[in-house]
Amino acid sequence: MPRFACPRCQRTVEVPANCQAGQKADCPHCHGQVVIPSTSTLYWVCVWLAAPLLFALLGLLQGSLQSAVAGAMAGLVLTAVVAGIVKGVNVLWDMLFRLAGWTEPK
Ligand SMILES: [Zn+2]
Repeated sequence: MPRFACPRCQRTVEVPANCQAGQKADCPHCHGQVVIPSTSTLYWVCVWLAAPLLFALLGLLQGSLQSAVAGAMAGLVLTAVVAGIVKGVNVLWDMLFRLAGWTEPK
């Protein structure tokens, strides 16, 4: 379920997963209309850095800079693979829906 901060009252707003960025939603706190933002760039930067940093830290804990670097590379590749799979499944799912002629409820 996507979450974001309401631009009017700064409180957390949750929207159903099928809500797209750019659509409007009602803030349950201040009852204002808010436009659902796309997932922030910062979020993706964190996701992309989390695994390499974790693996690098594990390498450092083993006391070797070489394994830390190797760990960081492995983490980066792992993140790319996972992101690729998730993206691929999304696209495939979308295609299946379109082929079957199902349209999303408005
Ligand atoms: Zn609000």
